[in-house]
Amino acid sequence: MNHPDTRTLQQLDAAYHLHPFNDNAALAQKGTRILTRGEGAYVWDAEGNKLLDGFAGLWCVNIGYGRAEMGAAAARQMTELAYYNSFFQCTTEPTVRLSAKLAELSPYDLNHAFFANSGSEANDTILRMVRHFWAVQDQPQKNIFIGRYNGYHGSTVGGASLGGFKGMHDQGGLPIANIHHIDPPFWFIDGGDLSPEEYGLVAARRLEAKILELGPERVAAFIGEPIMGAIGVYIPPMSYWPEIERICRKYDVLLVADEVICGFGRTGEWFGSQYFNFRPDIMTIAKGLTSGYIPLGASMFNDRIAKVLAEKGGELNHGYTYSGHPVCCAVALENIRILQEERIVDTCKADTGPYLQQRWMELGAHPLVGEARIAGMVGALELVPNKPERKNFAERGKVGSRCRDIALKNGLILRATNDTMLLSPPLIISRAQVDELVEKAWKSLDMTAKELGITC
Ligand SMILES: *Cc1c(COP(=O)(O)O)cnc(C)c1O
Repeated sequence: MNHPDTRTLQQLDAAYHLHPFNDNAALAQKGTRILTRGEGAYVWDAEGNKLLDGFAGLWCVNIGYGRAEMGAAAARQMTELAYYNSFFQCTTEPTVRLSAKLAELSPYDLNHAFFANSGSEANDTILRMVRHFWAVQDQPQKNIFIGRYNGYHGSTVGGASLGGFKGMHDQGGLPIANIHHIDPPFWFIDGGDLSPEEYGLVAARRLEAKILELGPERVAAFIGEPIMGAIGVYIPPMSYWPEIERICRKYDVLLVADEVICGFGRTGEWFGSQYFNFRPDIMTIAKGLTSGYIPLGASMFNDRIAKVLAEKGGELNHGYTYSGHPVCCAVALENIRILQEERIVDTCKADTGPYLQQRWMELGAHPLVGEARIAGMVGALELVPNKPERKNFAERGKVGSRCRDIALKNGLILRATNDTMLLSPPLIISRAQVDELVEKAWKSLDMTAKELGITC
């Protein structure tokens, strides 16, 4: 049944709205899906379909949809003081309270927040602050960032340059100068005969080789997502991050953890660095910081960096009109209150997370699935043509997008990157909803396999 307005909205959308990361001509043909409502782990579209959101919007709706307290927090702050800036030696109360809260929540000595509106902007901030940090210590040549191919750090000029997506670099002449990339850790395709733990060390030592090739005196920082999200939820072996940290310390290269997906409970810990047991100097946060209810990002710096910037940095020639926006900060504080008081991260770690992991791994038995992997509540299924072989389909992406479309018809939202099915549900998903999710995923895999002529 077609909602009477849907067709009109789709026509207006096709005429006037350019969508991010889309082939807009193809989308105009097909018609946009218009979402109208959300509650808990479910969203509804304009045609009245109820969908279990296995992707938490875009890795972000950690507390689930429809929490009225979030709206109330925004309304209170808008009425009291809708906006004031943090330039000109001013700030607002929610901005200060959120900074202090983030210092308390953040691991190690990541005690100093610089606010942005998004993860991309927070990474741009880091790029500039780190180069400034070295320059004011008489090392202006120490300005190279090393990222990873297929890493995702956002879509601004800085963020997309730090990231390693070729398709993004090709549009707009990126990366900008003095950004280099190494291969990411992906045992399933790249690990050969090595055990995952052996492979983790091999993959980490690519960083050491790159630092030595460029010269340690020129390398400012390494940036990576604890778990690489967008490319396909690459969960590195536990040996990887401690080895990366060792290498960074050895050459005095700053270690940046882009926690935009992993932060705020996604792995069952508050931050991915706690899950993988390493100590970053800087971290990027966004997404789960507000559970997507309002845009907000931040760069968290450790005491060493804050001290140098305070003592030698002089005036910082950087900032956004909405850095530390009071309404966004009030909403973030409310989000953190809900995460803490309702023990959402603890439950994800001790109860629903392990249950989701156990049920998700069962999907690994499906004939179409070469590997199921999951950490906390972020996971993937690697769809393959010949099950025992760790090899992709020759034609990339067709099977994955087909499976995604079928899942949608079955009332389940999963994302596909190439032929990898990605999972990242709201952290409040219940055991019964986990059962529903896995049942719908299995059914969708069956239907996809049937189309391909694979017998199940
Ligand atoms: C989403 C994402 C970003 C970019 O955040 P935006 O808010 O979209 O700018 C950066 N890093 C990672 C790891 C992300 O997943």
